[in-house]
Amino acid sequence: MTLTGFPELPFRLGTTSYIIPDDILPNVRYLADKVDDIELVLFDVEDYSNLPSPALVNELNRIAGDNGLTYTVHLPLDLKFTRADERADVSIEKALKTIGATERLGPIAYVAHLDSHQIGLAEREPSEALVENCLNALEKIAPALPDRKKLAIENLESYPGEWNDEVIRRFGASNCVDIGHLWLRRRDPVPYLRERLPVTSVVHLHGVADRDHRSLTAQPKNQVQLIWQELLRQNYRGVVTLEIFNETDFVSSMDLLRSFHDRHSTIR
Ligand SMILES: [Zn+2]
Repeated sequence: MTLTGFPELPFRLGTTSYIIPDDILPNVRYLADKVDDIELVLFDVEDYSNLPSPALVNELNRIAGDNGLTYTVHLPLDLKFTRADERADVSIEKALKTIGATERLGPIAYVAHLDSHQIGLAEREPSEALVENCLNALEKIAPALPDRKKLAIENLESYPGEWNDEVIRRFGASNCVDIGHLWLRRRDPVPYLRERLPVTSVVHLHGVADRDHRSLTAQPKNQVQLIWQELLRQNYRGVVTLEIFNETDFVSSMDLLRSFHDRHSTIR
């Protein structure tokens, strides 16, 4: 499927399940003919859970089949580290529950945050002990994954993305490169992306204005275009998610990306 206004892209372009102010199903119906992939943003807290029921999974699969759509799943909590002799943290139990509730959707990736609090406390690269505890926690969810690469570990705004590298390599996970978080840390995202793209399954794109997760139009157009060019130049075949949360930002971001393919654009 080629999205309206785009040439055939090597990657799947998508957005989140919260573009219109409603639940997952109305959003998926709204987005089905507008994107290639939908990131299901899932919550599972004491008084609210939107983990899909088996009936909802059936309906999501039907819509996906009719529209050539795929899903990625954002796990609900930062994955907390534990020592080998400790009981698994609730975040690991919830990750397992979420993977179980969504496995019939055949998600392209499960996007995960590492324990940003513990890593954020490190002053330099995480210690060997911290990496071991992290791998220990991740091993507890490995049996639920159809493939370790399906776990896409995201760089966050609170610590350097490079600190994920060793964990990703040793576990055999993939990267979720969040471009907005790199902008938030006032970094040039292109070298970071370029180096990791071969082991990246998801790229998150969003603009940074008063805060992050805003329209891409909040960024200088050239900055966004450099990312787009890099994805095309490397023939990236994963998912690109516009990680934004309202219709105005979605429409303006898609229009900006489409404009890179106008006849007079410099992109090709
Ligand atoms: Zn993200």
